[in-house]
Amino acid sequence: MFIGHFALGFAAKRVAPRASLAVLFGAAQLADLLWPVLVAVGLEQVRIDPGNTAFTPLDFVSYPYSHSLLTLLIWGALFAWVFRAPTRPRGALLLAALVVSHWVLDFVTHRPDMPLYPGGAKFGLDLWASVPATVAIETAMFVAGV
Ligand SMILES: [Zn+2]
Repeated sequence: MFIGHFALGFAAKRVAPRASLAVLFGAAQLADLLWPVLVAVGLEQVRIDPGNTAFTPLDFVSYPYSHSLLTLLIWGALFAWVFRAPTRPRGALLLAALVVSHWVLDFVTHRPDMPLYPGGAKFGLDLWASVPATVAIETAMFVAGV
């Protein structure tokens, strides 16, 4: 998922109005902020494979640290701890939930390549098999979030 993550960041602003929108976006997109760094240092792998899905040619070969459910729970706790002060008390929980929401939204869009934990089973509902459905759902989410 791409802009759908930002939809949740916008929606979260209503729940935690004192939280910076940048921090809310950062929470929802933390996995995708970590991912290119981990790919660059060789801990995670991606390859270009035209036709891999209808929506993106990226084949997410391995991304256990940035995109597994277990590591996102840990990243969420760390992110919430780091940014707890300006959003306390419910804001910290919201930030952790936003970090973990990334897995849920990517689970819906990705092929079955979303790991539960490093080395664990992978899941995905493959919304990216359909460009019209992807655009419709992501656009609707983004508009609703705004
Ligand atoms: Zn992602």
